[in-house]
Amino acid sequence: MNLFLAVILASLIGVYLLHLTARRLNAAALSPDLPPEFADMTDAKKYARSQEYARANMRFQNVSETVSLLLVLGFILLGGFNALDLAVRSLGMGPLATGLAFCGALALFSSITDLPLDIYHTFVLEKRFGFNTTTAATFVADRIKGLVLGAVLGGVLLTAILWFLRVAGQQAWLWCWGFAVAFSLLLTYIGPQWLLPIFNRFTPLESGELRTAIEQYAHGQNFALSGIFVMDGSKRSTKANAFFTGFGRTRRIALFDTLMKRHDTDEIVGVLAHEVGHAKLGHIKKRLLASILQTGLLFYFMSLFLDNHALFDAFGMQHVSHHAGLVFLALLYTPVSLCLSLAANAMSRKHEFQADAFAAQTTGDPHALARALKRLSVDSLSNLTPHPLTVWLGHGHPPVLQRIRRLESMGAADSPD
Ligand SMILES: [Zn+2]
Repeated sequence: MNLFLAVILASLIGVYLLHLTARRLNAAALSPDLPPEFADMTDAKKYARSQEYARANMRFQNVSETVSLLLVLGFILLGGFNALDLAVRSLGMGPLATGLAFCGALALFSSITDLPLDIYHTFVLEKRFGFNTTTAATFVADRIKGLVLGAVLGGVLLTAILWFLRVAGQQAWLWCWGFAVAFSLLLTYIGPQWLLPIFNRFTPLESGELRTAIEQYAHGQNFALSGIFVMDGSKRSTKANAFFTGFGRTRRIALFDTLMKRHDTDEIVGVLAHEVGHAKLGHIKKRLLASILQTGLLFYFMSLFLDNHALFDAFGMQHVSHHAGLVFLALLYTPVSLCLSLAANAMSRKHEFQADAFAAQTTGDPHALARALKRLSVDSLSNLTPHPLTVWLGHGHPPVLQRIRRLESMGAADSPD
């Protein structure tokens, strides 16, 4: 068997089995006893419901990952890549347009095959647990906007990469890296004003107690803000969230309307203080640097194998091309990308604890953030006892109980008695 094919098949199946095992252990780790920290916020009945939700999600992921694995394996083993390549070549377009058509067709195929599961997740699973508020019209509009945006942004990036590969020779990977980094920085910069409003409405937060409290906190921390906005998150789900967008002078806060409905001012300030902590402690810069280095590694990896004929033999290709090579390399990259995501998640979990501690110190009220985390977990029926393998594999946040325990111990240390 071709070595490249063996590595790709082994890593696709290996990653699949790893996630399956993690979910088995996760299901076994669901404990029927409500953690005492949550006694003031929920009851046994609602806690049992959160476990039902966790099980339903795990079953859904089992089905969805099995379907995708079978589709990918079927496509590879039945010679789908070669058939698609021959079909787009028969259109007689130039090399760039042929490459775009090849990758565009794959992206379209994958979003069409995802659609039934996507519909089930939104309109059956999320609805059964009372989370879904997406209408059919919003769902359809989201998919169309997503496809158009993906085609435009993905098209620009891919055209540039294919072009550099044609003209820049040995240095192509450096040009691709530079372009990809500049492009993603540009998107981060224009995203808040130009891209996010395509999907949601942002209205400035009215003046009042909450606005004053946020401004006072930000001012006290010497933290520049260009705006505080309320986002209509309730358009899709009852789940709540808050986030910062942009950087430097264009930095804005977006609060989900669902967050404001369920949380008091102290809790919301606690959540924002945590986000300010990420910026003040340099987490955002570190994350950005890590992603720039990862992109560089990806393109360097590309430069090592892109012209290797054995890679094309692995997929039974009649023609060697950059566009097909990029897709094969993405598959070959699976084990590297798993290792990188484990490292990124471990770094992120460390940062979460640090941002919690920052919020506790700067607001002087660790209990407010702890209360906010509890309320968010209860309202979104979060799994309070994830198995360590699941956390290690895919969680950018530490288990919420660990965060709450740390926060509450900080509060206990501060109090005079
Ligand atoms: Zn955080």
